[in-house]
Amino acid sequence: MAIQAKTIDLRSDTVTLPTTAVVDAMGQATVGDFAYGEDQSYNALLAYCKKLFNVEDGLFVTSGTLANRLAIASQTMPGDEVITHYNYHIHFFDSAGNAKINGVVLNCIQNASGVIDIAAVEAAIHSKPRYKHFAQVKLVTIENSINGFNGKVYPFDLQVQLYQWLQAQGIALHIDGARIWNAHVATGIPLSDYAKHTDTISCSFTKGLGGPFGAMLLGSKQVIERAKKLQLWLGSGYHQIGYYAQAAKQVMQHQLTRLAQDHQLAKLFADGIQSIPYIQLIPPYPDTNIVGFSIKALGVSNAVFLETCQAYGLLLFPWLEAHIRAVIHLGIDRAAILSAVATIKQVVNYFIHACK
Ligand SMILES: *Cc1c(COP(=O)(O)O)cnc(C)c1O
Repeated sequence: MAIQAKTIDLRSDTVTLPTTAVVDAMGQATVGDFAYGEDQSYNALLAYCKKLFNVEDGLFVTSGTLANRLAIASQTMPGDEVITHYNYHIHFFDSAGNAKINGVVLNCIQNASGVIDIAAVEAAIHSKPRYKHFAQVKLVTIENSINGFNGKVYPFDLQVQLYQWLQAQGIALHIDGARIWNAHVATGIPLSDYAKHTDTISCSFTKGLGGPFGAMLLGSKQVIERAKKLQLWLGSGYHQIGYYAQAAKQVMQHQLTRLAQDHQLAKLFADGIQSIPYIQLIPPYPDTNIVGFSIKALGVSNAVFLETCQAYGLLLFPWLEAHIRAVIHLGIDRAAILSAVATIKQVVNYFIHACK
């Protein structure tokens, strides 16, 4: 088996390393003590994000996970119910964290579309009586783009309708927008429109934008004030955070429009592997930068298949048994995509001929 010199890493868009321009930007930061409001680079990042999303306030946090954690904590009380989708990050990866730290009950919708609309949320609310013995629904969370559904774009019209309907019920809406950048570039819908039709939205600098650190939670002054207090209680307050704030601003300014290329390459990858025998594309066909496929028909486990791919110099992520995920990002060009497709073809051939 020929071992390739250069590894192509499609496990996630979090694997990107900061470019020289990002490292240089970090060196240009003007820092001070964040706790005293004196970190100028942080203040500049906040002003930039507030303008871009047209929101009252925001808070820079360590991770997308913490942005979601604080969004939930600042809009619920322990014992309250949060309606989300089974496959959204808030439940799929983070249900234990939300149980331990936020003490909320997650009521998870399961469906094949990955989109939760008014009808689905209404059914989840009415899945039990809601008088005082019962958990009270205080928050609904959606995801855009949807990681577990190949980076599918959550339809904007459904978001607008859902938010309007939830407001009438006195229930808040949070958007997990770790990849809102990808949705924005794919649809052309302004980030401020996404932010206008929700109570809170998070965004991450470490996914497609390729930044080294951080996420932002955006919303009303009132909600962000609560989130700030909780951030400090969790021991995640900062002092000279401006280096990372400068990096976050740099990647927003220089890597956002580039995401269109990732989306094109995801389609190229999907088209390439679709023609390989025993490989089945998992729908939906990519809207953005994520491709899912199944090797079930090949009759080998994900672990064995991925180990062999790795020996050929290709890294992929085992999402679930019979579901492998590939994510296109900053470090991946057209040649890398063609090489990755060729590697998968080679690995499939290896199993067909060597093992059968
Ligand atoms: C990656 C991701 C997160 C978590 O972000 P971290 O910075 O890794 O904590 C949350 N939500 C979605 C949809 C994600 O893809």
